[in-house]
Amino acid sequence: MKWLRPNQAARSIHDVDYTALWERGIRVLIFDLENTLCRWRQWGLDPRTRALLASLRERGMRITILTNASIPPRQPFRRELEDAGIHLVDCAHKPLRGGLRRALAALGAHPSEAALIGDQLLTDVLVGKRARLYTVLVDPLGTQESGPTRFNRILERILGRRGPSRADPDPR
Ligand SMILES: [Mg+2]
Repeated sequence: MKWLRPNQAARSIHDVDYTALWERGIRVLIFDLENTLCRWRQWGLDPRTRALLASLRERGMRITILTNASIPPRQPFRRELEDAGIHLVDCAHKPLRGGLRRALAALGAHPSEAALIGDQLLTDVLVGKRARLYTVLVDPLGTQESGPTRFNRILERILGRRGPSRADPDPR
């Protein structure tokens, strides 16, 4: 199932080789939110994550968060992202491609210059591969998850998702 094979796996967003992504021509990073950037329903960026995203923006990467969660209009996290220059697309309905297309369109970006980084095979990797993006699978930050996600984890194991990742880039 090539649509469920990420281009690379890493332990966390902090273990991804962003220089190598840049050298591949990647200029747009599309991050999943829950259990990738923050824990489930704990919307916010810890200082280390905030610093990483700021340094990536300084290096010229454009950053979007693409989440299936619905973030309420008055949630302070929206303001935090806006202040950090990070675009947010919520209610993305991954693995459907509509939200991802909206994210790319908002940045005027082509799929070939974008990478999708997330913790789930059946939403993040699948939508990324379907839209022909480079995909990076990271280990989930925590074990607290929604009911549908817990079900997807069972499917992931059946599909052969391996345990905690090493940073071992595969050829595209
Ligand atoms: Mg996630």
